[in-house]
Amino acid sequence: MFGKHLFPGGVHPKEGKNGKAVNSGNAIVDMTAPARVVIPLSQHIGAPAKPIVKKGDHVLVGQVIGEAGGFVSAPVHATVSGTVDEIRPCLLASGLTVQAIVIDNDFKDEWIELKPCDHPETLSAKELQDLVREAGIVGMGGATFPTSVKITPGPGKVIEKLIINGAECEPYLTADHRLMIEQPNRIVDGVHIIMTALGVKEAVIGIENNKPDAIAAISQAASGLGGISVKGLPVSYPQGGEKQLIYAITRRQVPNGGLPIDVGVVVMNVGTVFAVDEAVRDGKPLVERITTVGGLVNNPGNYRVRIGTPISLLLDTCGGLQNGVKKILNGGPMMGMAINDLEIPITKGSSGILALGKESEEPAEGPCIRCGRCQRACPMKLSPYLMDLYIRNEQYENSEKLGVMNCIECGACTFVCPAKRMLTQSFKTGKRVITTRRKTQAEREKAQAEAVEKEKAAAKAEEKKED
Ligand code: SF4
Ligand code: SF4
Repeated sequence: MFGKHLFPGGVHPKEGKNGKAVNSGNAIVDMTAPARVVIPLSQHIGAPAKPIVKKGDHVLVGQVIGEAGGFVSAPVHATVSGTVDEIRPCLLASGLTVQAIVIDNDFKDEWIELKPCDHPETLSAKELQDLVREAGIVGMGGATFPTSVKITPGPGKVIEKLIINGAECEPYLTADHRLMIEQPNRIVDGVHIIMTALGVKEAVIGIENNKPDAIAAISQAASGLGGISVKGLPVSYPQGGEKQLIYAITRRQVPNGGLPIDVGVVVMNVGTVFAVDEAVRDGKPLVERITTVGGLVNNPGNYRVRIGTPISLLLDTCGGLQNGVKKILNGGPMMGMAINDLEIPITKGSSGILALGKESEEPAEGPCIRCGRCQRACPMKLSPYLMDLYIRNEQYENSEKLGVMNCIECGACTFVCPAKRMLTQSFKTGKRVITTRRKTQAEREKAQAEAVEKEKAAAKAEEKKED
């Protein structure tokens, strides 16, 4: 129906000679914990965590240092043992500044007492959800939505299928690929645990066909276990997008503005599943993650990094940068964010750090020639050139009518545009303006409603006085 793709649109970004082919063969390496970690209290979607330590406190690895700030939130844990030096603002790769807890490492690597569980099958769904919540796990593919919320379906919500995202469709990134090759049994075990927590009988692990070794390893680990299957997927970007993956595997379409749960599905990244397995089986909170370091670095690879490690130190561990670096990205080349400050820390969502050369330079924009390529590439069936036109003319309501809020910012349209139009950037701006306007409008309406209520109350009080 969609040619070689299993979803509408999609592109095939080419990788330079430093792409996946280099890193997929590099086994995961443990990076030495740094002398100082900077652990942001907001590394997830939802309310920031609230600090529960103060300057001078001694902390152990895995100790909660920030409590979840609400239901949609996640706690954060100390990732080294040592002393809390300060709580201060910290810049994130997203450009936001949030509060962070700074810990000086005592290099004793003393952990809290972990409480392993040899028989997760004996735990109730609620007990599993609580363990995942306490471990601070969030979507590790980059979305950073708190996992405990995902595995706690609200009343009336029926989940039929769990989909595991092993597509890793962005060029250069190989952290998930390596994890699938090196830890297939633990990933499959984690899938079982999540199936129990959700009460579902079927799980499908989707992996792009350019990772035959990962498909073989996961298929082998899942063989003989009922309910878990592996599906090889055509290589196409953004195959790992939540809506695209659901459609490719189930042919169900998540409605605009809706969630996977609206079509009876929960989607989780393989890195998240592995973290769930560690949390439940070993009692280990989320204190580290696998991050790909690629591009123009001397020793590219896949590194197990303590959360809060400055990116500069990770790059040093990789032997430093080569000549010709024009841009450092946090994330993949399609959706990653350019960063200028290398003291930004690795967070729960840091799937990759890329040092890119000339290929990342942005050429001058030309006028739109109405070729329609952007429209054909869009996996959300949007009209990028028209939305862009409206946004540039500040006609945000028209771009909203065309569905700009459904744009997943995948970058496919920008990638194919022969005029090098900065389409995705334009949609990010448009969405931000529309969101701010909606918020302002909602606040205005609330203030008006409150004023009317006040007037009514005053009038009533006046009436009473007259009586
Ligand atoms: S791909 Fe570029 S040039 Fe072609 S229609 Fe879209 S915006 Fe215009
Ligand atoms: S960035 Fe948005 S508009 Fe462009 S292809 Fe992706 S979803 Fe479509």
